[in-house]
Amino acid sequence: MLVLDSTALRAGLSLPLSEGLATTQSAMDEVRLGPEARMLDYLVEAGLKLLQPSAESIPRVEKAARECGDLARLSRTDVELLALALETGATLLTDDYSMQNTANILGVRWQGMKQRGITEVRKWKAVCSGCRRRFDEPVAECPVCGSEVRVGRKAVRGEKSK
Ligand SMILES: [Zn+2]
Repeated sequence: MLVLDSTALRAGLSLPLSEGLATTQSAMDEVRLGPEARMLDYLVEAGLKLLQPSAESIPRVEKAARECGDLARLSRTDVELLALALETGATLLTDDYSMQNTANILGVRWQGMKQRGITEVRKWKAVCSGCRRRFDEPVAECPVCGSEVRVGRKAVRGEKSK
């Protein structure tokens, strides 16, 4: 399983859905405020789990973060995500250095987005299976002809190995 921070959630379709994805309510809420909010519905539909760490693991994360001097740079959301990864044994998907440092102390595995081959140049592209109309955001049903809209992704070439 992968635990996603809000930046990772924004990668939407580039995420490896088959590995099992989880995040916290607070990370979801951060994305809900932005333009990528509609991706969340798709991710939830595709199996994204909303989990909450237990209260006991929060102080363990804070202690580790204090040890590496990163506590002041971590938000409450960051701490909860670390706690969730700690409890579930999941791999944390984050590009945040302070979270990565703290994860190292806790023995939590993490990966950056680039290591996963996830780049933000990928854009949502949904295509209607009926009239082939394209949509920039995922929709369940084509508003024009009523057919199922399939979501695919479009990768921009030459950016992946950067
Ligand atoms: Zn259509």
